[in-house]
Amino acid sequence: MKNAGIVGAGGAGFPSYAKLADGADMLVVNGAECEPLLYTDYILLKRDMPMVLSGIKAVLEYAKIPCALLCVKEHTAARLKLKDGVKLSDRIILKTLPDVYPMGDEISLIYQATGRVVKPGNLPITSGVIVLNVETLYNIARAVKTGEPVMEKLVTIGGDIPEAIVVKVPIGTSVAELFERNSIEIPEGYTVLDGGPSMGKVIDPENAVITKTTKGLLILPDHCEAIMSKYLDGEKSIARAETACCQCTRCTDMCPRHLLGYPLEPHKMVRTAKSAATVMPEMVITATLCCGCGICESLACCQGISPKAVINEYKSLLAKNKMRYVGKDEVAPAIERDWRMVPSERWANVLGVARFDKLAKYVGEQTYNKVEILLRQHIGAPSVPCVKDGDVVHKGDKIAEAAEGLSLPQYAPISGRVTVFDGEKIVIEKVIE
Ligand code: SF4
Ligand code: SF4
Repeated sequence: MKNAGIVGAGGAGFPSYAKLADGADMLVVNGAECEPLLYTDYILLKRDMPMVLSGIKAVLEYAKIPCALLCVKEHTAARLKLKDGVKLSDRIILKTLPDVYPMGDEISLIYQATGRVVKPGNLPITSGVIVLNVETLYNIARAVKTGEPVMEKLVTIGGDIPEAIVVKVPIGTSVAELFERNSIEIPEGYTVLDGGPSMGKVIDPENAVITKTTKGLLILPDHCEAIMSKYLDGEKSIARAETACCQCTRCTDMCPRHLLGYPLEPHKMVRTAKSAATVMPEMVITATLCCGCGICESLACCQGISPKAVINEYKSLLAKNKMRYVGKDEVAPAIERDWRMVPSERWANVLGVARFDKLAKYVGEQTYNKVEILLRQHIGAPSVPCVKDGDVVHKGDKIAEAAEGLSLPQYAPISGRVTVFDGEKIVIEKVIE
């Protein structure tokens, strides 16, 4: 997995090899595709289920894990014509998840699939669970069967466009070129997100490229809640929180992490806003338990306050000081959790994106003449180039080594001549004869 450069294909880019610790008795396969408008995992399961199952078997065997649950939401299971509990192979069972948000959050997923609550701030392995995304398992199967490293990415292109598509492209493809090739225009007053409407990041399509973690590219109008929430100003949010919060506690009542028994109480963060870090440090550190789902901001608060923005300010403060909450005690979900979960359809409406939801069509694989491979597209140390300016590389050649510690190598997704931008990226351009 390390040699093949495999990262969590849908998350923050954690190198997958580092998840394979001893002591797991369950592999939870994340096919929840939690965010609205994304169909990448669904298309992969529809087209390549045998490869995903083969990746699961390889991990079960290597890490000596007895069984796996392949978790998909009810609507995906219905589309794949699979029923809850069906055996997909000897040690692999399909588990359906309710159509609620945020099911793809690792901690919520583990509880929903296994009934286990990971102790706050601890890794899933402490509950005997390893979680991997379906595309990660597909990449593992490819590496095991053919020795091929990660060089391509499946991406949904959706939002306010006539037809949503899923396309397979080389890692490093320019987003602008990808849009041009697929006749996708970005009208005035629209923003492009890398990722889903809730957790995705605003990108500049002219400069952005596809990375190992790009699940989707969404083109959305600036006036929908999904985009407006991205442009919230942290300072202003804190000022608003201090003046307008009525302490109704709705943000805490609906917080999925709080409902699992985690000591995260957004209303208290908001109440103390600016002074909290000095007067209640033990409460502020619980900010690192927030998964960033945005329910407190876009759905719960009736005063237009963003507890998430306040929490994000605390998170950056804590990250700078290398501090995070690690709970020692078991916690239990609140009895009301099951009926406080947010239906996916309602969430899509809250974000103002439900009207753009169209089942994506797979349009196949596309090749490009130029790619830009970012050296930092995984958590940990950036890769170290092992090629120099002017070298000619072939598809599949190693172009950067893993650095010391947590890191991954990079490979050429196309053949061509390289230009190295040290510490930043390697550009490969096809040599046209
Ligand atoms: S974003 Fe808000 S609702 Fe979501 S986990 Fe964080 S505090 Fe809870
Ligand atoms: S929901 Fe809004 S008003 Fe109510 S406690 Fe939370 S931040 Fe304050």
